[in-house]
Amino acid sequence: MTFENTPEFAKLLDSQDPLYAYRDQFIFPKVNNKKVIYFTGNSLGLQPLRTKKYVDEVMNDWANLAVEGHFYAEKPWWDYHERLTNPLSRIVGAKPSEVTVMNTLTVNLHLLMVSFYKPTTKRYKIICEAKAFPSDQYMFQSQVQFHGYDASDAIVEIQRREGEHNIRLEDVLSKIKEVGDELALVLIGGVNYYTGQVFDMKAITEAGHDAGAYVGWDLAHAAGNIKLELHDWNVDFAAWCSYKYMNSGPGNASGCFIHEIHHKNKDLPRFTGWWGHNKERRFKMEQKFDPIPSAEGWQISNLPILSLAPYLASIEMFDEIGMDAIIEKRDKITSYLEFILKAINDEVHTDFEIITPVNLSERASQLSVLLHGEGRSLFDYLMKNGVITDWREPNVIRLAPVPLYCSYEDMYNFGQILKQGILTK
Ligand SMILES: *Cc1c(COP(=O)(O)O)cnc(C)c1O
Repeated sequence: MTFENTPEFAKLLDSQDPLYAYRDQFIFPKVNNKKVIYFTGNSLGLQPLRTKKYVDEVMNDWANLAVEGHFYAEKPWWDYHERLTNPLSRIVGAKPSEVTVMNTLTVNLHLLMVSFYKPTTKRYKIICEAKAFPSDQYMFQSQVQFHGYDASDAIVEIQRREGEHNIRLEDVLSKIKEVGDELALVLIGGVNYYTGQVFDMKAITEAGHDAGAYVGWDLAHAAGNIKLELHDWNVDFAAWCSYKYMNSGPGNASGCFIHEIHHKNKDLPRFTGWWGHNKERRFKMEQKFDPIPSAEGWQISNLPILSLAPYLASIEMFDEIGMDAIIEKRDKITSYLEFILKAINDEVHTDFEIITPVNLSERASQLSVLLHGEGRSLFDYLMKNGVITDWREPNVIRLAPVPLYCSYEDMYNFGQILKQGILTK
């Protein structure tokens, strides 16, 4: 399709967009009395209108029923989390028994590493991406140190080649081969938070298994953004937060996946609590732990219902629409944004460099733009004029035109504001 950098063309695309109506189901902050152009759904998704109702429901049940709410609320609390399981399994390509929600993302990855990082004197290394999200880096360091290894030896980072912004698949695969029988675990962000690069999870998972290692994925930027087939790819485990593309609210609960081949494996160590114990016998308060033979066997505490309510509201919206429709719009609107950036670049003779891969199979809902020759003042100009984006040192802005609530007209308007920002510097 040939795009045009005109308001008429942007409106035409909006009029043809089957997801356009969902825009009105979200609450936008306002700047200068106008809805903002929101590019940071990869950091904190907007609040869906329906969310408040789900939270109020729990507040009311708590007020009216108090402890009885565990069993007699309209959505009883003792199995409230199970309402998320089926729709969530469709979003990440899993069997319902392979997913659950609990804790928060880094906490879940730590807990999953208890099960899947079992270093021995020979096999103790972890492969991850260079410049992983800081929380993941700290997690790796503390995990290897906890097991008595030296981080500089046990953590193997896959580097970008000189002058390149993205990691090559061939370099991941050859590093896995090279580390070979010293490799205990591969754990990478499925979509890189900085560049937006999407990794070939199927190929990397297979290579890790061929080397005899476990393979897990941090799906913070992948869940609700890309097509996942965690079960079919034979991923051992994965976890994601729900507040980025999944719009469940600040700091909210994490989802996690554990492949069914591990559910009954009693040799896997894990940290346990009563919510992972045999459901029928949970309230018998027995001494011996009997794990639920599903991802729920990794649960520890009873669940934070006030956090799950917004997550449920969001997941039901995803389920209504389906990932395929989201992905179709994602690719179109991201390509339109790319077109707009190039058009403005040509008009005002700047030197933007999109560091996100060009190939649609290697990118999703984010374009990271290196603003050669532009400083933070451009970013400040954008924010002041209602374009919410984020700034990453040294001079990268990340733009996520989230398909559920961004419009094509937003992309056109963004281009105009960007142009003004460059010209009025
Ligand atoms: C956002 C993000 C996190 C955040 O972790 P929390 O435990 O939810 O604070 C972790 N890893 C990656 C890759 C992220 O993008």
